[in-house]
Amino acid sequence: MPITEALSALEKKVCADIAAQRDGLVNELAQWVAIPTGFNNTQGLDELRGIVTQRLEALGARTSLMPGDPRPAWLGEGRMVSDNVPPLAVCRHEAKCGLPKVLIAGHLDTVFDPRGKFREMTVSPDGKTGNGPGVVDMKGGILIAITALEAIADAGIDLPWTFTFNSDEETGSFHSDSALRAEAKKHEIGLAVEPGLPGGGLAIARKGSGQFLIDIRGRSAHAGRAFFEGVSAVYALGQVLTKLHDLSDATREISVNVGPLKGGEATNIVPDHAALWGNARYPANELGDEVGRAIDALATPAGTLPEVTVHRVFSRPAKPEIPATRALAEQIRALARDMGEELAFASTGGVCDGNNLQDAGLPTIDTLGVRGGDLHKTSEWIELDSLVDRAQLFACLMLRLHGAN
Ligand SMILES: [Zn+2]
Repeated sequence: MPITEALSALEKKVCADIAAQRDGLVNELAQWVAIPTGFNNTQGLDELRGIVTQRLEALGARTSLMPGDPRPAWLGEGRMVSDNVPPLAVCRHEAKCGLPKVLIAGHLDTVFDPRGKFREMTVSPDGKTGNGPGVVDMKGGILIAITALEAIADAGIDLPWTFTFNSDEETGSFHSDSALRAEAKKHEIGLAVEPGLPGGGLAIARKGSGQFLIDIRGRSAHAGRAFFEGVSAVYALGQVLTKLHDLSDATREISVNVGPLKGGEATNIVPDHAALWGNARYPANELGDEVGRAIDALATPAGTLPEVTVHRVFSRPAKPEIPATRALAEQIRALARDMGEELAFASTGGVCDGNNLQDAGLPTIDTLGVRGGDLHKTSEWIELDSLVDRAQLFACLMLRLHGAN
């Protein structure tokens, strides 16, 4: 970002300090990316947690590890579930001017674990982009926020903040949700360093998301000798599936996606078991409740055949636009303008911990991380210049939120 005349002398100084670190930031990101932090990799997650908490402790923060909660066991067959229950690291920096009002949220886990082919950050020949697991989601984001806090401290400014790191965001934050919500209630403003929207824009609203499993029991029979004595769980699953599909409603922005499916063992046996897993998205919690009730209504009384059992957990509440979050977004947009950049606002169907923080009462902007794209794909990339300008934006934002600019 250009360092413009609209910035204060202190903001210019902090921005210049960050700009001088570009090569170091790229190298550091490459080191973090090479630490395997994919699903359930306790060793890698512990290593990265140690690195980031030590950096913040060097600024005077104290770290507490909040124990995690178990997640519903039924989620296991439809999606990845960790056997480990990682803690939430809470790094609190209490400045002389008072307790933290800003909660910064980051997640250490990545969708890919760099133990396979996709393991290192590679920089494009022109030096503009890097490709690697978690470069934007969200190792780059955590790096810019820590860099910003360090630059503020280097400028002699003592700001209070809390920085949390969970290790299960990509699998739904089931372990860390209650500890994150408890932290949300102690703060006034939430900042999360998920990747910016394309072009660096801010998400000002997000849909909610819920997971479900529908488990169906039938009666097995020989498909040739005794077909009509059987009760096909797969047929019942088909009927349930069409009812679920009908719950999607484009005009009300409700979607119900089904998959994976399980059912049957051989073509000559009437299947006595079938199951499906699915995900619902909804722009408001009332609509999520409505969808949830409709899914619950698919259950049949115990002992009936076919017997349909519903398990569900709608764990990511919707994050509608609220005045406090809009005001925070406008403040960030005004700052970005002072830095010569126009930030777009948008809503998204993607979910993150910002959903849960705001649901717990904390107005949150969660797209303050770096720019890039192809999240959750092996082509995930970062625009390397954004390590500098998003760290500058984050640093100036922290200064302005505290009236310290
Ligand atoms: Zn993320």
